[in-house]
Amino acid sequence: MIKDIKGLHHITSMASDARQNNRFFTETLGLRRVKQTVNFDDPSVYHLYYGDENGSAGSVMTYFPFQNMMLGRPGVGEVSETQFSVPKGSLKFWQDRFTAQGVDGLETDTAFGANRLRFMGPDGDGLALIESADDNRAPWLAEGIPDDAAIRGFAGARFSLNNTGATEELLGFMGYQRADSEGDVTRFIIPDGNGADTIDLTALPKIPFARPGAGSVHHIAFAVDNREKQLEVRKALMDTGYQVTPVIDRDYFWAIYFRTPGGVLFEVATNEPGFNRDEDTAHLGEALKLPSRYEDFRDQIQTNLAPLAA
Ligand code: ZN
Repeated sequence: MIKDIKGLHHITSMASDARQNNRFFTETLGLRRVKQTVNFDDPSVYHLYYGDENGSAGSVMTYFPFQNMMLGRPGVGEVSETQFSVPKGSLKFWQDRFTAQGVDGLETDTAFGANRLRFMGPDGDGLALIESADDNRAPWLAEGIPDDAAIRGFAGARFSLNNTGATEELLGFMGYQRADSEGDVTRFIIPDGNGADTIDLTALPKIPFARPGAGSVHHIAFAVDNREKQLEVRKALMDTGYQVTPVIDRDYFWAIYFRTPGGVLFEVATNEPGFNRDEDTAHLGEALKLPSRYEDFRDQIQTNLAPLAA
């Protein structure tokens, strides 16, 4: 069994408009844009990272905004809800804020004993705020959002699956423990995680597979401390029969990817080197950063990308 997973590292989704996406995550949700770069496989598309001050593992929501991409159709085989942790008693603040800003899909309920506010991102992204009384992670403080309401990072994520059996087994192998179940949802928790500790599996046997598009999660990444641990995790997964990619340099972390039996694409990413490797913490996310192989094409790349601020 793997013992080095520390919870989530980041979640990466797709969007249809870079400027709208940037505005929603930095202004409406008040996250910090910690990196402005391009899709390393397609430099005509941004890769935008939003998180806490440092872009700590477990706080980072990232987007590929493919301009004018069609909306995804929700279904099984995907991450259906990305959950952010907020302080206890803050949902009223968020509900008022979202209502005033015209955010869609507002619904309040409780999930595993915690108050939850579900809402949609600009492309119908399945998002939720979960109240927590004991999340000690420091928030990024954006204008208009008080410290006692600001997002602390991810709480976790919820998957929609045809059949949860093989994914339950995989999560168990990755060090997650089955904690509880509520209706058709089973909760898994990583012990001693970074705060982004829960994965909920929803069994929906009669629902068709999702059609990925804008608003869909592309993949979900789990955190390991360093490259050495990552290689151990990679070997353990491959010994168990998973087809895992070689280690890929993503400039701010090292990544391996593998497709899981339920259809969700998993990544395991290192906490090193982090987002301040090519710019000061005080100025994270302000300038367009490019992997070195694209530096020669900076002018052309920059011309093709729509400015993020109006
Ligand atoms: Zn990733």
